Amino acid sequence: MSTIFEKIIAREIPGYIIYEDEHVAAFLDINPITTGHALVVPKKAFVNAFDIPSETLAQMVRVAQMIALRQHTTLNAEGVNFFMSSGEAAGQEVPHAHLHVIPRNLGDHAIPTSFPISKTSPEELAAIAEKLR
Ligand code: AMP
Repeated sequence: MSTIFEKIIAREIPGYIIYEDEHVAAFLDINPITTGHALVVPKKAFVNAFDIPSETLAQMVRVAQMIALRQHTTLNAEGVNFFMSSGEAAGQEVPHAHLHVIPRNLGDHAIPTSFPISKTSPEELAAIAEKLR
């Protein structure tokens, strides 16, 4: 069974495609957070950051930058957020990897600028860094 994003890429269902190459496609998010909100996806339905090949992810980021520059020049976006939710725990809803490219303007309040923080001691930070190194 193909994912909803594969169906958009195959033109089986409507989509507002703005870019495609051999490995990656981009189209407008159907429920945009701000005007011009786009999604960059691998053509092959990798699920998320855990299984996508790094070269494909790198190409998604290159395309995201290209789209961000276009949002800046043609939609007058002053800023941009890139984000990718990987896994249900991170809020991923569509099980086909996608990088959000969200144009931002001062005062749009589209995405919270501050998040709850978990207080962590220097010792804990050092232990976590050691694990991740
Ligand atoms: P996420 O919560 O990161 O998995 O985001 C999924 C995104 O896919 C949401 O922003 C949806 O609005 C978007 N979306 C779902 N269906 C479609 C569709 N048919 N065309 C374009 N965007 C879609």
